[in-house]
Parts: sequence; structure tokens; C-alpha cells
Amino acid sequence: MTPRRVVIVGGVAGGMSTATRLRRIDEAATITVIERSGHVSYANCGLPYFVGGVIEDEDDLLLQTPEHLFDRFRLDVRVDTEVVDIDADGHEVTTRSTVDGRTQSIGYDKLVLSPGAVPVRPPIPGFDRVRVLRTVEDAERLAVDVAGQPETAVVIGAGFVGLETAENLVRQSIAVTIVEAVDQVLAPLDPELAIMVAAELASHGVVVETGVAVSEVTATGITLADGRAIPGELVVGSIGVRPDVRLAEMAGLALSSQGGIAVDETNRTSDKDIYAVGDAVEKPDWVGGGNSLIALANVANRQGRRVADHICGLPTRSSASLGTAIVKVFDLTAATTGWNEKRLRAAGRNYRAIHSHPMNHASYYPGAQPMSLKLLFDPGDGTILGAQAVGGDGVDKRIDIIATAMTGGITADELADLELAYAPPFSSAKDPVNMLGYMAENVRSGACDVVEYDELGALVAAGWTLIDVRTKEEHGRGAIPGSVNLPLDRLREELDGATGPFVVYCEVGQRGHTATSLLHELGIEARNLDGGYRTWMAADAARQQQPLRLIRVASGENP
Ligand SMILES: Cc1cc2nc3c(=O)[nH]c(=O)nc-3n(C[C@H](O)[C@H](O)[C@H](O)COP(=O)(O)OP(=O)(O)OC[C@H]3O[C@@H](n4cnc5c(N)ncnc54)[C@H](O)[C@@H]3O)c2cc1C
Repeated sequence: MTPRRVVIVGGVAGGMSTATRLRRIDEAATITVIERSGHVSYANCGLPYFVGGVIEDEDDLLLQTPEHLFDRFRLDVRVDTEVVDIDADGHEVTTRSTVDGRTQSIGYDKLVLSPGAVPVRPPIPGFDRVRVLRTVEDAERLAVDVAGQPETAVVIGAGFVGLETAENLVRQSIAVTIVEAVDQVLAPLDPELAIMVAAELASHGVVVETGVAVSEVTATGITLADGRAIPGELVVGSIGVRPDVRLAEMAGLALSSQGGIAVDETNRTSDKDIYAVGDAVEKPDWVGGGNSLIALANVANRQGRRVADHICGLPTRSSASLGTAIVKVFDLTAATTGWNEKRLRAAGRNYRAIHSHPMNHASYYPGAQPMSLKLLFDPGDGTILGAQAVGGDGVDKRIDIIATAMTGGITADELADLELAYAPPFSSAKDPVNMLGYMAENVRSGACDVVEYDELGALVAAGWTLIDVRTKEEHGRGAIPGSVNLPLDRLREELDGATGPFVVYCEVGQRGHTATSLLHELGIEARNLDGGYRTWMAADAARQQQPLRLIRVASGENP
């Protein structure tokens, strides 16, 4: 049998996963990888850390070389080479050297496109002087700029890469301003969690300008739409990416509604001999059921492996994407999976939200750090729709557990049943994820009637009394305006014949739940404020676009 000829366009996450998996299951195949940049298999996720000097040696970003890939996998890897044309009928691609311009034709039986995404470059005057961060070469250029010791920089866009870039520029002693057109940082988070990330940035000296667009990039910085000038010897654009579909269009392949390459559950395009993976394609969305543009390394790698299997006739599983993502922002970690509340609301989905603010491990064991968790679920069948977490150590673990639960079809209530590893330095006997399960169970069963921060005003206006069941000391340090302090331990005595109805709150929602249960037992109508004072404070700061005071201490709740 003639060995199959596979040509792969793009030699990084998706492309290289396809190539190496293919070789492991087909020793005879002729595998050619074409890569436009000077490097293959480079760690683009590490690029911001190279700029910041965390990764000191550029070679550490280069996970493989063409020579090593030939030695180990007999891959024909051609760097500095671009695919400039695809003849789908003739099963042939045309390549051009980016060094000397020489062109060549390569025939294929199967073609795999993994060209990634291209940074968005908006039509703003002066934007051509803006640096982007996508390839090793981009990072090298930025590192040269940084070596020139600029004093100021502007990062346009407060997404994952923008925040990583900002942190790493601060590491290089540069005064950084982040400008973000929408009214919060990190759009995948809801505002009451994003405000915590903004506070972390501010506490490290980063100026964050949200809700205002850049109107011009000047020689000395940028001008905002409101006329203010922000100094920036260095300007980095991190506005997002869009699928690179140039080759797909050239080959006449179908595109999906959101502009990515359309693929089936095996990642085959509208041409049965052309596959596409990674940032360039639209993925089935786990929550919504339609398609989403999700640009993440894990997804690209998974798809690459699946394509190799399918080409070789192995059985493949289709898997939808949750969009699970994480970012380090100075001493804080922010992570998310599934949809956020903004998106669920916009889509008209039926959902409930719960917030908690647990410690990452037993609070009596030294070094415990608080985190804020938000779980979104369908109140009907308990399907988990999304989760977000912001905090210190252990945020990654909790979001990964929830992402795993979602993939496995575990409901919000069933999070309570997960048997998770526990010892005081790692967790609590009731892990924060178990606690979310208990809370979801209480909400779904009606055992706890909760109210969200944005429903509070309407209830108070309708005559509900807001009671703070924290201690007098806690109340004195800050409370929701108009609330009456009736500490939980004296609630029975201090009710003094009052009949409610009450909205109850405490610091994070736990004592509020106990108080609400007690009031119900006494025949008094009461609802607990979800996430307590901490969630209200964060939501209020986000609503008023005011700085949030960071809380890095235990909540005072009992385990
Ligand atoms: C700075 C940065 C940080 C990131 N951090 C994270 C992170 O922490 N976590 C995470 O999950 N994801 C992260 N990502 C996203 C992640 O890197 C991508 O989702 C992933 O690399 C996509 O894989 P891909 O194969 O689709 O595209 P890429 O890995 O981008 O590879 C595409 C390659 O194709 C080449 N190419 C394009 N067109 C042609 C052509 N015509 N001919 C030849 N070659 C071509 C390009 O040069 C490029 O090297 C980050 C991305 C960047 C840029």
C-alpha cells in the first residue's frame, strides 16, 4: 500500500499534536509540516513571561526543533515557509519560502489546517506602531523594546493575554496603563468577580481605564475617546484574535456563522480530505449546543489528536468545549469554565447563581487564602452551566473539578457528593466545591430562599427589612446601607416580636443561611443574600465603577 501523504499547515499546538500523534500510529506516512515563522512547537502561552524575564532563556520557549522532530518522529518540518495556495481538486499546496521567496508544490492525500488566529488590529489612527504578541518573533521585538528601558507602556485590551502582558511589563519596572473599551477587565468573568482582578492590578500600580476606547495611537502614547492623553513609550495591543481563515477561503471551504472554519465532529471541513483544528475553527459549545470561537491550547491539542486518529481510521469521540481558562494576575488567580451570567442572561437561559467566599484550605492551618467562587446552574435539572473563581492557591483545582463535573454530566447538587482529597494544608473536610453542591441543593430544594444582590433594592422597596446577622464589630467595619444589625447568636432574643419579611445577610452567606432557616422555623418569611456582604460589596463597586478593597482574611464563618 502506498504510504499516505499528510501535509499539515501550522507547526504549533494543533498542527504539531496532529503530526506526532499521526506518527505514533502510522510509521509509514509521509508527514510534512509547514510553518511560516522561524520556529515550530513553541510555547506561545509562555511569551508574556519571556517579555517579563520570568523565562530568561528564549530557548526554553522552543519545545522542539525541526531536527529533533525529524530524529524522533521522521517529520519533514519546514520553517520559514508559508502555504500560499491550496488546490483542493488537485490535492496540492503551494509553499513559498519567507527567506528567499522560492515556491514549491507538495501533493497530499490529507491536508490539516492549523493556522491559528490573527490578532485583531482595529482601524485606529497610528495603530501600526502597536506591538502584538502572537509568535516568538513578536516576543523578541517586545523584549528589545523593553530592553530600551521605556518608563511607560499602554496595554490595549484587558483580556487574558493583555493582563499577563501588563504584569510582565510591571516586572520590568514599567508604569503600565491598561485601556479596555468595555466596562470591566476580563470579559469572561462577571463584573462582581472581575472587579477583584481590577483591584489586584491597581494594588500593583497598574492604572486601569475601563469603559473608554482608544481613539488614536500617538508618538508618545495614546489618546482616549474622551480626549485624555495617556503616556506610553510602548503600546501593546491585545484586543483579541479572530480565526485565520485565509487559506480556508482560498480552498473554497465552508465557514461557520461566527467566521471560523466549519468542521464536523471529526474536524473534517466541507472538503472530505481537508481537516482543520485549533483557533481557526468553531467548536461545538458544551453549554449552548451551538458553535463558539474558543481559542485555547488544550482544545487545539485535543483536536489535533482526534484528527490524526480519524485519518488513520481509529474511532474518535466528539467533544464539545467548555472554554475552561485560567490566568495569573500578580498574586491572584482568575479562572472560568462554561458560560458566565451575562451570556446566560443575554441568551434568555433559565439559571440560578450562587456565590461563596471560602478559604482554600482549613483556616487554622497557616497560609490559608480566601477565594471567591460563583456557580451557575439550571434550577430545573441542576445542570451546571458555568463557574468562575478568583483568589489565591486552589482556584485552579476548584475550576478544574467543576469543569470535570460538567464534562461528566454531574449536576450542581451532586457536587456535594464528590469525595475529594482532604488534609488541612490542602482543603477542608467539606471542600469549597462540596459546599457549592450543598448550596445548590438548598436552593433547588427550596430549603434556602436566596436573593441576589441585584434583587435587593426591589425587595427593600417592597417593605422587606434588611438585617445583618454578623457581629456588632463586623457591622461597624462596614455594612449595607439601611441594614439593621441583629447578630445571629442573639437573633432569637433581639427579634423582639418582629414579623418580617426579612432579607438576611452576613459576611459570605453562611451565617445568613442559618439565620434564614431559624426565621423560617419561627414562621417568619426570610431570604438570604447570596454571597453575603462580600458579594454585595464587589457588585456594588463594579456597578459604581469604584475601586474595591481587597479582602485577604478569613470570613469569620464557622466550618
Ligand atoms: C501570548 C499568548 C498566550 C497564550 N496563553 C494561553 C494560555 O495560557 N492558555 C491557553 O489555553 N491558551 C493560550 N493561548 C492560546 C493558545 O496559544 C492557542 O489557542 C493555541 O496555540 C492554538 O493552536 P493553533 O494550532 O490553532 O494555532 P497556533 O498555535 O497559533 O499555531 C498556528 C501556526 O500556524 C502558522 N501559520 C499560519 N498560517 C500559515 C501558513 N499559511 N503557512 C504556514 N504556517 C502558517 C503560524 O505561524 C503559527 O505558528 C495563548 C496565546 C498567546 C498568543
